[in-house]
Amino acid sequence: MSKSIPHRIYLSEDDIPKAWYNLRADMKEKHDPMLNPGTGKPITEEELYPVFCKALAHQELDQETRFIEIPEEVRNFYKIYRPSPLCRAYNLEKALGTPAKIYYKFEGNNTSGSHKLNSAVAQAYYAKAEGLTGLATETGAGQWGTAMAEACSYFGLDLTVYMVKVSYNQKPFRKAIMETFGATVYSSPSDTTNSGRAILASDPNTNGSLGIAISEAVEVAVTNEGKRYVLGSVLNQVLLHQSGIGLESVKAMEMIDEYPDIVIGCSGGGSNLGGLVAPFAADKILGKANPRIIAVEPVSCPSFTRGKYAYDFCDTAKTTPLAKMYTLGCGFQPSANHAGGLRYHAMSPILSKLYHDGYMEAVAVEQTSVFEAATLFAKHETILPAPESAHAIRTTIDEALKCKETGEEKTILFGLTGTGYFDMVAYAQYLDGSMTDYVPTDDDLKPGFDSLPQIG
Ligand SMILES: *Cc1c(COP(=O)(O)O)cnc(C)c1O
Repeated sequence: MSKSIPHRIYLSEDDIPKAWYNLRADMKEKHDPMLNPGTGKPITEEELYPVFCKALAHQELDQETRFIEIPEEVRNFYKIYRPSPLCRAYNLEKALGTPAKIYYKFEGNNTSGSHKLNSAVAQAYYAKAEGLTGLATETGAGQWGTAMAEACSYFGLDLTVYMVKVSYNQKPFRKAIMETFGATVYSSPSDTTNSGRAILASDPNTNGSLGIAISEAVEVAVTNEGKRYVLGSVLNQVLLHQSGIGLESVKAMEMIDEYPDIVIGCSGGGSNLGGLVAPFAADKILGKANPRIIAVEPVSCPSFTRGKYAYDFCDTAKTTPLAKMYTLGCGFQPSANHAGGLRYHAMSPILSKLYHDGYMEAVAVEQTSVFEAATLFAKHETILPAPESAHAIRTTIDEALKCKETGEEKTILFGLTGTGYFDMVAYAQYLDGSMTDYVPTDDDLKPGFDSLPQIG
């Protein structure tokens, strides 16, 4: 049987899902509601309208609708690069000498180089359908800004991107791609917003952070008629749009009579992982199957493994609604030493709830071991992984090596979220030995926790 499984299992265009899957509908206990920071009460759809376009505000709060139809225009865009391949890592398995069967869902085969396009297209579509003229967003490593720039140019929308200063300086080509698609890109914090100016005044040499960039983008959205804010992770709507990753994976695995024992994904804000695991988490919740689900995060930004499960702001200037999440505190400043993405201070409320209720595990891995895994993977599978994705590779390899010891023939599925061609500075640091590992002390984490709002 296993001999007949090809290296790449391709679905057809008709297999692109017609609807996104909303895991919240099947969760026995829902996550705690998003709160309006002014009233302390659960936020209403209307209260989200100044920030998000209406259809997306609705999706954000929709806990009930199990399947949400994918608009035809969005599905048509998906056809340019989906379905994405499910790959069998035969060569990596051989190199490791493991009896485990390793599969990965490869989301890097589009220009943005990551899964982020799946949600960018949806968010741009709804904004256009509502008659908006433009969108504002932040980007960290740059993949989200690139995906949004592509989607906005396709639908004819203006895009303003606040790019975290340290990435802006490290990755000039990311900015050039966004500009090629017509976006306006600022280094964040910038002097174009009140929140940016306030941070520059108190800390002129700041590296910036996703939280700061979000504050700037939200400010632009709420102070400009015809503009709204879009976010590439964390939110319920984003996990919804990413559910196609999981739905396609299930379908491809069914074709070859497989089902994973372990599902592994890297987790920054939780969108690729939330999308990949949605159908598998549902099987667990509904008692149909019991795969292990593992979130992998960097030790330098350990939201799940060392964070608190608490209400927190989604940004640094404390302007957004409050969400109950595993968080390091909205004042958390990630170390500049950390090379890739996965630097956001908190985790998706949906995944936080799954983790809290024991449906999911989490591990934190060190940067140099991540690049060791990335390099091994690249050599044997020929794809140069994004550093973010390589976190999942690290844990996959660790699980596969455990199988080698026990002789268990487990089936592992992991999310290969993107390619790393813009991260060659980090690869070069790894190769020349100058990359270091940063493990924050409790004292390092304290200012972040001290910034948590006092709620309930
Ligand atoms: C943004 C990104 C991630 C992390 O974001 P999530 O929302 O946690 O999925 C992972 N991999 C790549 C390639 C990314 O661009």
